[in-house]
Amino acid sequence: MLEHVQKTDSKVAQIIQSEIKRQQTVFEMIPSENMVSPSVLEAMGSVLNNKYSEGYPHKRYYGGNEVIDQMEDLAIERAKKLFGAEHVNVQPYSGSPANLEVYFALLQLGDKIMGMSLSEGGHLTHGHAVNFSGKAYQFVQYGVQKDTELLDYDAIEKQAKTEKPKMIVSGATAYPRRIDFKRFAEIAQSVGAISMADISHIAGLVVGGVHPSPFPFTDVVTTTTHKTLRGPRGAMIMCKEQFAKPIDKAVFPGMQGGPHEHIIAGKAVAFAEALKPEFKDYARQIVKNAKALGESLSAEGIRLVTGGTDNHLLLADLRPLNVTGKQAETALDQAHITVNANTIPFDPRKPFDPSGIRLGTPVLTTRGMKESEMQEVGQLMARAIRGWDKPSELEAVKRGVLYLCKQFPLYEDL
Ligand SMILES: *Cc1c(COP(=O)(O)O)cnc(C)c1O
Repeated sequence: MLEHVQKTDSKVAQIIQSEIKRQQTVFEMIPSENMVSPSVLEAMGSVLNNKYSEGYPHKRYYGGNEVIDQMEDLAIERAKKLFGAEHVNVQPYSGSPANLEVYFALLQLGDKIMGMSLSEGGHLTHGHAVNFSGKAYQFVQYGVQKDTELLDYDAIEKQAKTEKPKMIVSGATAYPRRIDFKRFAEIAQSVGAISMADISHIAGLVVGGVHPSPFPFTDVVTTTTHKTLRGPRGAMIMCKEQFAKPIDKAVFPGMQGGPHEHIIAGKAVAFAEALKPEFKDYARQIVKNAKALGESLSAEGIRLVTGGTDNHLLLADLRPLNVTGKQAETALDQAHITVNANTIPFDPRKPFDPSGIRLGTPVLTTRGMKESEMQEVGQLMARAIRGWDKPSELEAVKRGVLYLCKQFPLYEDL
């Protein structure tokens, strides 16, 4: 695949080669990541990169877009079929701009929005103070219940009635349980707010039928395309027909310039893959694997936030093992297991070195691992975490990881 760059730029080729090797030889367990098919990679690396196509299909500001129009139409048509959406915009560059575009489209600067707080599982663009969302809009944040660590819909409803927001955003980056999008939409409707669901993490699970869909009742749905959906790094906005015009205008010319049509080609390829029956099996296996991994970690004495998982991710509270999130992240890295340190709800420690780690099964499932391997993965992880300051333990775990990686190879022909 690197035949050209190898000749013209050996430095870059070497770095890419090293990253291929890294991805092949680690357990990549960051739940927002996935490994796309070679077909998605090829589409992204195509000459569609070269074309300026500001505007929308059949209404462009540049000439020569008759082929590009076919590409974008195809991506939209497949996305609609995949999610049952009335209107789709596939141009958002990534998840963060997609969310800002929705706010920009449907609200006035300074309007009140409700979103989940970052420290309890939400995303930066759901109103965090350091993010543009939190500066440009008046966000009020909801979280999880202290004892159950679950979303408390009655409390959210009460808060919505008091705050009277113009929009309620649901969706999370670190919430291991099902989200009741229907309830969120009902709460929004009861206070006259627009409902928005950000399904970035779980889009693949929604498509696979293993997480309830926010359609058809949610007004606007955003998602990244590179997480469980297993497509290129990018995003899309889906909405009811009544919001289509302002949303399209907010994406272009409101916030973006030329769409990345090579990425849109990658999206189209990923959507076709997700439309296949095999993708449903994949999504089901992601969840089965997460549950099996959770059982394995629990058996090792690690506490799982909410006691387990319904989706692709787990939040592990490492306090029972007396290890911090950062210590675990660093140790696991040495053992070739990639996770991220993460706050747990009501974390007594600081965000930079919190009490937990966040981990997920999308990539290991893409590699073909199943429940029996997950049990082994959990045991290896626990051994590395317990032995976080013992190089010989980390070395032993690393050997186990490399052995499993060999049995479940990735990108063999790259
Ligand atoms: C990942 C994510 C985003 C942001 O996506 P980027 O592509 O990283 O900008 C937004 N919202 C949620 C819920 C996410 O999980």
